[in-house]
Amino acid sequence: MRQAIPERIQLAVAQRANFRCEYCHIHSDDLFLSFEIDHIIAIKHGGTNAIENLAYACPHCNQHKGADFATLLNDFSNIVVLYNPRIHNWIEHFDISDGEIIAKTPIGQASIKIFKFNEPDLLILRKLLFELGRYP
Ligand SMILES: [Zn+2]
Repeated sequence: MRQAIPERIQLAVAQRANFRCEYCHIHSDDLFLSFEIDHIIAIKHGGTNAIENLAYACPHCNQHKGADFATLLNDFSNIVVLYNPRIHNWIEHFDISDGEIIAKTPIGQASIKIFKFNEPDLLILRKLLFELGRYP
C-alpha cells in the first residue's frame, strides 16, 4: 500500500527546490495551482518515499511525467532516461531562449518530449515571467 509523504518531508522537498519546479523551474508563486511532490522513480518501478527520490514539481510537469523515467528517441532501440534533478545538472541539459526550454543533450530532448515543456500557454507564461524578471 502506498504511504503518504509526511508534511515535514513535503516542506523539506519544496525548500530544497527553493519553491521552484525542479523540472521546468517555474516558481510556485507564479502558478495558481498547487505544486506536487513527484516520485522521480515511481513506486511501481521500485522507487521509495526517501527524500532523495522526491522532487518538487508543478502540476503540469508532474502530470505529464506520470510514472515515466525514460523514453524512446528517434527509434525503438534508443532508450534515454529523463532528467533527474538528483543526479543531473539542469544547465548541462537545457537552455532557455525567449521562454522556450531547449535541449542541449539527449536527456534534454527526452525530457522536453515527455514533460511537454514548450506547450504554447507555458511559453507565453515563461516569456511574461522573464519580462517581469521572475524567470528563470
Ligand atoms: Zn514544471
